[in-house]
Amino acid sequence: MEISIDLAFIRGILKQEAERARDEIRNQGMLRAHENSQGRHDAVIASAPDVDSLACRAGCTWCCYFSVDVRAVEVFGILDFIDREFTDVQRGRVYAEIRANSSALRGLDEMERMHRNVKCPFLDEGRCTIYAVRPQTCRNYHATNAAGCQQSFEEPDNLEIDPEFAPYVYQAGGAHVDAFSNAMQEAGYDSCVYELNVALDAALSEPAARERFHSKLPPFTKLVGTDAPAQFDDLLEPEG
Ligand code: SF4
Repeated sequence: MEISIDLAFIRGILKQEAERARDEIRNQGMLRAHENSQGRHDAVIASAPDVDSLACRAGCTWCCYFSVDVRAVEVFGILDFIDREFTDVQRGRVYAEIRANSSALRGLDEMERMHRNVKCPFLDEGRCTIYAVRPQTCRNYHATNAAGCQQSFEEPDNLEIDPEFAPYVYQAGGAHVDAFSNAMQEAGYDSCVYELNVALDAALSEPAARERFHSKLPPFTKLVGTDAPAQFDDLLEPEG
């Protein structure tokens, strides 16, 4: 689906989020800054002019079987949430699913992963059990017709499906993520993208990963991330 890009709209979100993110990363630390940014991310999407056209509803879970990209900062936020909120039984079940998914997906490239449906370990009885800290990829879903999501689920080998989506929600979410990632990168933190299950598995098996992240080193010794696919980054003004 072709869309018209609204430069003023995108630039407004980039500027606003970049300034807040830079300031908070400097003064509050990376994890807290990210937590704050997640709240703004939801607010920016909720105020997009076409938000009411979204088909995304509680209980609709087609996209929770698709490959999810995350950054390391999101992985540590999710693990902290699990530590705080999950029972031992829930934790054990989720960790087992993460490990099983990770061994199925590790070594596949992005295209190969797109052809696979894998249930997200956090999907339980039709709901997201980490909703407050769900990844940016999940926050950015912008479908206006769930039939397209269902078709992608039913035909994972068909990459020609072109779902209908809300252009302003897409631009708002993309610009917000680009601005925060750019601020994180400027501050020297790892901003690479990893597959959700593989990165969680790596973080669970490498306790030093968090410390390496905070020391601005690549967090996972056995995982190579890919550069973040910025959508609107080139529209962002440098800090000055
Ligand atoms: S984290 Fe939540 S919203 Fe995202 S794929 Fe998993 S269950 Fe779905």
